[in-house]
Amino acid sequence: MNETIIKAEKLGYTYEGDERNVRALDGVDIEIYRGEFLCVLGQNGSGKSTLAKLFNLILTPTDGVLELFGKRIEKDITDDEIFDIRRKIGMVFQNPDNQLVATIVEEDVAFGPENIGMPPAKIRETVDAALDTVGMSEYARHSPHQLSGGQKQRVAIAGIIALSPDVIIFDESTAMLDPNGRAEVMDTIKKLKNSGTTVVLITHYMEEAAEADRVAVIDGGRKVLEGTPTEVFTEREKLIECGLAVPQATELMLKLKQKGFVDTADVLTPYEAALAIAKAAGGAR
Ligand code: ADP
Ligand code: MG
Repeated sequence: MNETIIKAEKLGYTYEGDERNVRALDGVDIEIYRGEFLCVLGQNGSGKSTLAKLFNLILTPTDGVLELFGKRIEKDITDDEIFDIRRKIGMVFQNPDNQLVATIVEEDVAFGPENIGMPPAKIRETVDAALDTVGMSEYARHSPHQLSGGQKQRVAIAGIIALSPDVIIFDESTAMLDPNGRAEVMDTIKKLKNSGTTVVLITHYMEEAAEADRVAVIDGGRKVLEGTPTEVFTEREKLIECGLAVPQATELMLKLKQKGFVDTADVLTPYEAALAIAKAAGGAR
């Protein structure tokens, strides 16, 4: 895990307005390594989408350094270069309805490959493989509007993976979904990560962040914490300052630890909490 594919140094972005400017990101240092699953956590308005838009070159930095695949991004970047980078860094957004363009699922997934001039036979193969990866093959001939939110997001993801990107950024892609839809999308994300895709998951759900290899917390446009999920979630006070909460399982263990019932609060899931409690009670080896 040491090939850096996204690197930001003192990265900043200011939205210029007629009345006032908004400093959305300020001095952010972050590196993303090939093959990892990084979660960017932060409350509303903390700068998460701005960061994602910089990584995807929807925006270009107003200050600081951004390097994508070793190439430093300058203001005069050409459209061809942007196109090239967008193929390598795909993005899945929050609202599934805004991302689907065709009236048939498989045509939607074929849209990107057609756009880059992929030969028709290869498109067929690519679309089938992408729908299979997200578990939507049986819906290939359906209309997207017949699908649930989670299914629509999976089709949107298929459209991105059809272009074989190195990195996929999910900008709150589960936020509009019901718990089932969220679980479907999280399963798809984990599957992608396991097959070698680099994943950047932007979220405010702690339970999702617990699944990542590494978590970076941003607040007020600054990176305030970074580490493994366990390292980040034991910083309870700091997370609360950032308008976040620790996962319920961790919160429970922190309380039990405070009372001296357990030695460690390093758990992220209810299952891990149950094991740790059973062990402390002498019930497990
Ligand atoms: P998040 O995704 O974490 O909710 P954003 O990156 O969308 O945060 O926003 C960060 C800050 O930038 C917020 O204060 C937001 O109001 C502001 N902002 C976002 N987009 C714009 C814009 N197009 N023009 C002006 N301010 C913006
Ligand atoms: Mg956002």
